[in-house]
Amino acid sequence: MNLLNFILNFPDEESCIVHFKAQGDQIGVFCPKCGSTKHIWLKNKVRYECAHCHHRQSIRRDTVLEFSKLPFRCWYVAMHLLTSTKKSFSASELQQQLGHKRYQPIWEMHKKLSDIMGKRDNEYQLSGQIELDNAFITNLISDDCKHQDLKHGAGSQNKSKVIVMTESIVVENPKPGKKPKKINHIKMQVVPDLRADTAVEIVKEQIDSKAELTTDDSKTFFKLHKLWSLTRLRL
Ligand SMILES: [Zn+2]
Repeated sequence: MNLLNFILNFPDEESCIVHFKAQGDQIGVFCPKCGSTKHIWLKNKVRYECAHCHHRQSIRRDTVLEFSKLPFRCWYVAMHLLTSTKKSFSASELQQQLGHKRYQPIWEMHKKLSDIMGKRDNEYQLSGQIELDNAFITNLISDDCKHQDLKHGAGSQNKSKVIVMTESIVVENPKPGKKPKKINHIKMQVVPDLRADTAVEIVKEQIDSKAELTTDDSKTFFKLHKLWSLTRLRL
């Protein structure tokens, strides 16, 4: 959904609540006190009331919004920002975009949404054509570490070792001058080392066994030749 459609679909708090409630209703609501599945909707209180024992419950119960006092629209805007672009949003950027006074609740929301998105990413196994690469990513160093002597190069404390896995899909009828494939999904995994056994473990876990792998001639990937029998490895 692009930004204009998002604004059209979710112009205010009420539209977000209506959408959120519809999602919950689809799954079904049950009373935690008596187990009844029949409820009355109390629109003004944004709560369900059990038709049997009159126990009231929030529609946020058992969802990622539970325990948060932020408006529904805050969550919806955050979800839109975090999922609609490839850019990653920090909690403080999110706070600025939402114009919210307090950092803490935004940080908590950001954390919960990032956890869910991370989980989804972990569940997704790459398939098709995958390019493997290794990389070093510079970490942000805390003030405590700045004064210590840091090693330079690959073993440096301020660099993380990362395996980058890029899944691409074939584009039918590519435009003249354009590549016949485009990137579909990228996974980056921080690894303790770049040994060949570590790469084998990551590939087994993250990539479908029928995928076609492409690597450079790095030692990290040389064991994939033998173990990844279903894969045609192109160097
Ligand atoms: Zn009940």
